[in-house]
Amino acid sequence: MKKLYVGEFHPRSELALPGHPDALPPFPVIDMHAHFGPLLLGEDYEATYDTRRTCETLKELGIEKVLCLELVWGEEYDRLCRKLAASDGMILPVGSVDVFRAMAPDFEATVYRTLRDLKSKGCVALKLWQNMTLMGEAAFGKNLRLDDPHYEPIWRACGELGLPIVIHVADPPCFFRPIDEQNEHYVCLSRHPEWSFYRPGMFSFEEHMDMQEAVIRDHPDTTFVVAHVGSWAENLPRVGEWLDRYPNMYVDVAARVDQLGRQPYTARDFIVRHQDRVLFGTDYEGHFTMDRARGFYHTHFRFFQTRDEYFDHPFPDFLGQWKVCGLGLEEDVLRKLYRDNAKRIFQL
Ligand SMILES: [Zn+2]
Repeated sequence: MKKLYVGEFHPRSELALPGHPDALPPFPVIDMHAHFGPLLLGEDYEATYDTRRTCETLKELGIEKVLCLELVWGEEYDRLCRKLAASDGMILPVGSVDVFRAMAPDFEATVYRTLRDLKSKGCVALKLWQNMTLMGEAAFGKNLRLDDPHYEPIWRACGELGLPIVIHVADPPCFFRPIDEQNEHYVCLSRHPEWSFYRPGMFSFEEHMDMQEAVIRDHPDTTFVVAHVGSWAENLPRVGEWLDRYPNMYVDVAARVDQLGRQPYTARDFIVRHQDRVLFGTDYEGHFTMDRARGFYHTHFRFFQTRDEYFDHPFPDFLGQWKVCGLGLEEDVLRKLYRDNAKRIFQL
């Protein structure tokens, strides 16, 4: 018998089931959550992909438009626009504002200036990230709460200027728990211990969810698309309560097929019930090889469209160490998920 470490266990399923590994969408799709800039690809991101070639492949896969979510503004936003120009409007750069200036006396003016500049260049949303509550040490000497008054100008300005916010808050709850035998993301965290936020000085996962709710509740005129199924794909009943309570809240499904696909009945009911509020996003990374791009999108379409059972989700290497079952959504719901909701919210 061969002895294995837990991360080495990759059983081959003996299930004999027909399936649709090459699923394609019935109509053109908008992926509103992808990354083609420095956030995931690093400072030299331009060298990591060919814009035109990537767009050709994505078009073949039924993708019509992609939102590229990045923490860039000013010169860096212009640089990203230049790199994506060859996409002929297929990949839309979404910029941000320097949240680490939140304690500067002129922050409010900076926010309005930055947002007006982004809007004038065609930016359709504002991207915000987990650094607001998890990486403030260097800038502020501590982490700020998401509902800290210093961040207030961002929420207000986005409401006034009609710029929807796409926000990534926290990370999966397991990233805030001890990395031990009970942590269901043990394999992932043992490979990437730097992704863990289980240490003193960090807000807990539950505190993050309270802060997130407070910001959405207190800014009813600002539109929030909360990435990764409202930050809590593990708790769809709670996310559903928020959607019922806060009409200015939307969610995307980026990088959470693993979570949705292990609770397919609940996930299907959730998307059908909130069909006007859930957006298709993937967390596609611009540096994927074209083979990886094909497998990645086919798997997404297979998941949302078919009733295929027990197959690998799009991030088997580092997200949930389990397989997923498809949701088999009807075409009218798919159309909202895949394009109509994004078209409406981002005015595409
Ligand atoms: Zn992302």
